[in-house]
Amino acid sequence: MMSNAALDAKYAVLMCARPSDETVDIADVTIVDAGVPGYWRALPVELAAMGRSLEDVRAVVLTHAHTDHIGFAERIRAERGVPIRVHELDELRAKGQVPGPAGLGRFKLVPLLGFLLFGLRNGLLRPLPILEVSTFGDGATLDVPGTPRVIHVPGHTAGSAALHFARRDTICVGDAFVTRNVMTGTTGPQLFPNFNSDNEQAYASLARFEGVDARLVLAGHGEAWDRGLQEAVRLARERGTAPR
Ligand SMILES: [Zn+2]
Repeated sequence: MMSNAALDAKYAVLMCARPSDETVDIADVTIVDAGVPGYWRALPVELAAMGRSLEDVRAVVLTHAHTDHIGFAERIRAERGVPIRVHELDELRAKGQVPGPAGLGRFKLVPLLGFLLFGLRNGLLRPLPILEVSTFGDGATLDVPGTPRVIHVPGHTAGSAALHFARRDTICVGDAFVTRNVMTGTTGPQLFPNFNSDNEQAYASLARFEGVDARLVLAGHGEAWDRGLQEAVRLARERGTAPR
């Protein structure tokens, strides 16, 4: 399992996991989130850096279906036959049948322009809906490499899900909270109210992480966090992001 820094992890997380003991050389890969369409070009290079190739990818699991997370999903499905998994409440969004967030929320100009430029360069404005997805619900353990357990954390979107790779001591939280707000440039664990469909619900969903142990936290935006999930959640709660 690796978080993929080189693929501009400031904007999306790509993570790969092998199903069993790290010392066993098993090639199978799960990709968590598909970033933006432009990441398709970088993907083979990134996989090669891990000693893997597109052939080794068994599944793409989405933390939610915002356009900056479904990027190359349809492409890898259509061209390589890789199945795409998403929480049942984000299925229609993944298929392009739900409009994106209405506004940008509070922002600072420089980070906003940076994000827009990044989006323009990487096809964010031309998202491809996913024609076929299979869905999962809360508490499911997915039969994909790494066997993540699903923790439903609605609020960012209705079907937002964190994926807990317990044996890797790692959790992918999507945008349930982030470690950098790309609209304001603020770093550290925090909610992402700009694009939350229900910020109050997103705050409440932080309680769903209670009792979950993971040293490494990979969020959809911002650097990897290696000081533990509970500390990240504590900071996210503390940072003035409580519901108005
Ligand atoms: Zn999002």
